[in-house]
Amino acid sequence: MVSRVIPVDPFDLVIFGGTGDLARRKILPALYRRFCDEQMPREARIIGAARTEQSPQEYRDWVAEGLKEFAPRSAADPDAMAGFLDRVDYLPVDAKGEGGWSDLKSKMRANVVQAFYFSVAPALFGDLAERLHHYGIAHEGARIVVEKPFGRDLGTARSLNATLAEHFDESQIYRIDHYLGKETVQNLMAVRFGNVLFEPLWNAQYVDHVQITVAESVGVGGRGSYYDKSGAMRDMVQNHLMQLLCLTAMEPPSRFEPDAVRDEKLKVIRALQSPPLKDIVRGQYKAGDNPSYLDDVEEPDSRTESFIAMKLHIANWRWNGTPFYLRTGKRLKTRKSEIVVHFKEPPHSIFDEDAGSRPNILSIRLQPDEGIDLSVTIKEPGPGGMRLIDVPLDMSFADALGPEAADVPDAYERLIMDVIRGNQTLFMRGDEVEAAWAWTDPLIEAWTERGDRPVPYEPGSAGPEDSAILMHRDSRRWREVG
Ligand code: NAD
Repeated sequence: MVSRVIPVDPFDLVIFGGTGDLARRKILPALYRRFCDEQMPREARIIGAARTEQSPQEYRDWVAEGLKEFAPRSAADPDAMAGFLDRVDYLPVDAKGEGGWSDLKSKMRANVVQAFYFSVAPALFGDLAERLHHYGIAHEGARIVVEKPFGRDLGTARSLNATLAEHFDESQIYRIDHYLGKETVQNLMAVRFGNVLFEPLWNAQYVDHVQITVAESVGVGGRGSYYDKSGAMRDMVQNHLMQLLCLTAMEPPSRFEPDAVRDEKLKVIRALQSPPLKDIVRGQYKAGDNPSYLDDVEEPDSRTESFIAMKLHIANWRWNGTPFYLRTGKRLKTRKSEIVVHFKEPPHSIFDEDAGSRPNILSIRLQPDEGIDLSVTIKEPGPGGMRLIDVPLDMSFADALGPEAADVPDAYERLIMDVIRGNQTLFMRGDEVEAAWAWTDPLIEAWTERGDRPVPYEPGSAGPEDSAILMHRDSRRWREVG
């Protein structure tokens, strides 16, 4: 059973970049679904702000088209659609000039929550922050939401943080990593800290190793020129995989509160050792039914990786000796994200050798079907003596909690509502982002300096052979991607 939705306080949400791809595909559909679920109060208002000169009605028509495409189920209800569009307004605003700012000021209400979503290139963050301040638009409690990429290295992240800090306090800044908005990610915390069952075992004494996989079946496609300047390390590991690693490895925070959680995550990043390059595998997908990575990007000799796998160690008491294996890549066999905790085998087997032995495995699936399952060893039923097999204790949300539970809000819905509620727990703090870059930069510099080339891999595979070898070296294997 899914609990009742609690409406948030009335708000004015300005989407800078309101005519962009992210607004159309994610932000507006997320808001619309929250509206349909009656979480958005009548007084809520969404103001698109971008360079395009158009009337509010033209913008609403464009929003409606987008909703039909990206929230088709909810968009089928004409009354809901009309009700939502009633709350949508538009204003042409130039982030780099003076046009539109005074009008924006006069539109903003003083007595409601104010949020400004910076859905524009990071180069414009400073211009927006400065003008919001200069025109006296943002009041003291105003919140700003910024998207990834948050810098491309430590230097750029620091300067972005410094720019925002000139006009906003850290408590007003919401850095989105949509992986943190996923239901299962929060469930990871519920499983770890809401049960006595797992936490006593959640350490190097009982955990053999952890695997974190974020596999994508798509290539870099139309984003080739952007992606090629970034690569899997910057685009995925520094943010999404690092966040999943932190939540898996962190110590219990004293409370489920923003700074308590973020302090613990930060400690994990600081304890993360820099792996030797031999523990990192980088790859580029070859051509198959689709073009190769090198054909997808402009640089014919690109050395940017579309796949990365690595073995990491966390230097603290809890995890000493337990490796964390991370991998992520494009054009892999399937789209799948999961965290898999492999427990150790019992210290002594009381059964005959031919009974076999199997370690317990807890897997936390983030996509496609969110859920958690635990493999438990039992006796194979029937005659034939004691033979051990493992069976899943599967907790797919839909099976366990009824069909509506599978219909949980998506990450953007939850995160945007958290912004309005003023809850920063699932957002990255500035020092976390900087610590993650401080760990990432030397590795990128090291392989760039050596002139390493990513190894080619077959599209539709689990990545390069070397990634499997990384595990074989330790007598381990990756879970199947597909
Ligand atoms: P986009 O190019 O589709 O849209 C950019 C928007 O910025 C447009 O609305 C445009 O009018 C506005 N804009 C540009 N210059 C402006 C100016 N001077 N003044 C006012 N408005 C201006 O980009 P996008 O794909 O929507 O991405 C926006 C941001 O979100 C980028 O930083 C991107 O890296 C990030 N992001 C996008 C996605 C995605 O799926 N599209 C995912 C994650 C992060």
